[in-house]
Amino acid sequence: MNPVSKLSGSVAKEMIDLLGAECFLTSLADREAYSWDNTGYRMLPDAVALANNQDQVCGVLRLCTEHHIPVTPRGAGTGNVGGSLPVQGGIVLSLQRLNRILEVSVPDRYVVVETGVVNADLQSKLKEYALFWPPDPSSSRACSIGGNIAMCSAGPGAVRWGVTRDWVLGLDAVLMDGSTLRTGGRTTKGVVGLDLTRLLTGSEGTLAVITRAVLKVASLPEQRYLSRVSFSSVEQATAAVVQLLSSPVLPSAIEFLDGTALDLLRRETSLDIPGEARAMLLLEVAGGAHGLKELANDMIEKIKRFNPLSCSPPVDGPEAVMVWEARSALAPILKKLAPKRINEDVVVPVSRLPSLMDGLQGISKESGIPIINFGHAGNGNIHVNLLVDPKDQPTMSRVPGVLDRLFRLVLDLDGSLSGEHGVGTQKRDYIAWELDANCLNLQREIKNIFDPLGLLNPGKVWPARTITA
Ligand SMILES: Cc1cc2nc3c(=O)[nH]c(=O)nc-3n(C[C@H](O)[C@H](O)[C@H](O)COP(=O)(O)OP(=O)(O)OC[C@H]3O[C@@H](n4cnc5c(N)ncnc54)[C@H](O)[C@@H]3O)c2cc1C
Repeated sequence: MNPVSKLSGSVAKEMIDLLGAECFLTSLADREAYSWDNTGYRMLPDAVALANNQDQVCGVLRLCTEHHIPVTPRGAGTGNVGGSLPVQGGIVLSLQRLNRILEVSVPDRYVVVETGVVNADLQSKLKEYALFWPPDPSSSRACSIGGNIAMCSAGPGAVRWGVTRDWVLGLDAVLMDGSTLRTGGRTTKGVVGLDLTRLLTGSEGTLAVITRAVLKVASLPEQRYLSRVSFSSVEQATAAVVQLLSSPVLPSAIEFLDGTALDLLRRETSLDIPGEARAMLLLEVAGGAHGLKELANDMIEKIKRFNPLSCSPPVDGPEAVMVWEARSALAPILKKLAPKRINEDVVVPVSRLPSLMDGLQGISKESGIPIINFGHAGNGNIHVNLLVDPKDQPTMSRVPGVLDRLFRLVLDLDGSLSGEHGVGTQKRDYIAWELDANCLNLQREIKNIFDPLGLLNPGKVWPARTITA
């Protein structure tokens, strides 16, 4: 049955009774406003439900199950893999109004939030207590905690603090039949039963809708210092990363930029970059103010054996902010170079970074497709950007082969197809390359237990299932 007809008449009335007319949106303009994410694709839902509390989430899911309507959870819509796009129509369920910070416990080191809270708003609140929540995606000013948990997001700080799953203690979630479950708790230790908190973290909105989270928090570093180290070759830079990770003091960020990324920054920003530099590392240390600058200087001294072209002295405050802003500007600047950017976020064990970069150079040269690389080298997580013009058919016809080669290379290096963006609609054709048959089958069975009708965020992660009316 066509979802449009399912939403007409009595179903729409039931939704309006539940949410109020102002929170059940069916006009074309409203549906358009919830039809996009950062993939650039648009998919129109049949209606948008704006939930104001967990009871309403339960009600929406119960009605969707009763009437066999697909439902797609949505945070802020900044995802990179189509996760919040309603590929089978139906209802987009926005969690943005669940935006209360409910409790901060300093001695217990946790915060309880509703999942529509924006990452940066949480950080501002925690700053009042000299605390922070370590997951730091570059989209933090827009993305929601629910999106961060659903995608297990991370940013430059992951090299020191890990990723979202390391900072979630417990969750409240709603199953597709409208019932609720509470996983984990408020303690940093706890071994009773299976770890469903971890199962839901990174489940991309396919198993349950997460409404509330208990998040572990950390002390806010008193001070941070950032240094820039440039090299005449990618090989020198990646060898330096491997060395840094082998030393006892862990930096709070090790970001890598390749030569083409540097050419762009030279052109588009005021960052001072030596003309011959073909790679750069941004190295940050964070911690107590006492002795931290000396630590930063020690780190640079150690790197000198890799013959860098230049090492900037460690900076903090506005100077450091300027460098981080230039780094964050890279992705938007790339859009000026080519009509389309295919952005992959592969990850390999750090010691394999030199082989990954070497392989990427070969793939780019042989295919004739420019590939620009930068990212979180401290985790071996590199954003691989293919620059193409969709009107250039001969080049476009080579893209699938290039992606195949890229993913084979990553898996041969014991890596993974995605470090932080997830699978969504964008990588599901490839997941069987990485997961063995037993893993894949088990995951399908788990999905089936949580969502037997296949109505929650269909068309994502695993190959599509037919919805039976
Ligand atoms: C400029 C930019 C920079 C970015 N940088 C990074 C980065 O550094 N690191 C990184 O990891 N990602 C990054 N991203 C990707 C994106 O911001 C993250 O994946 C983010 O966590 C998504 O949050 P969101 O609230 O926008 O979720 P959405 O995009 O709305 O949803 C993402 C997925 O989560 C599901 N979902 C959302 N909320 C819930 C919920 N409450 N319960 C169940 N499922 C839910 C959705 O169904 C969907 O599958 C970036 C994106 C942009 C646009």
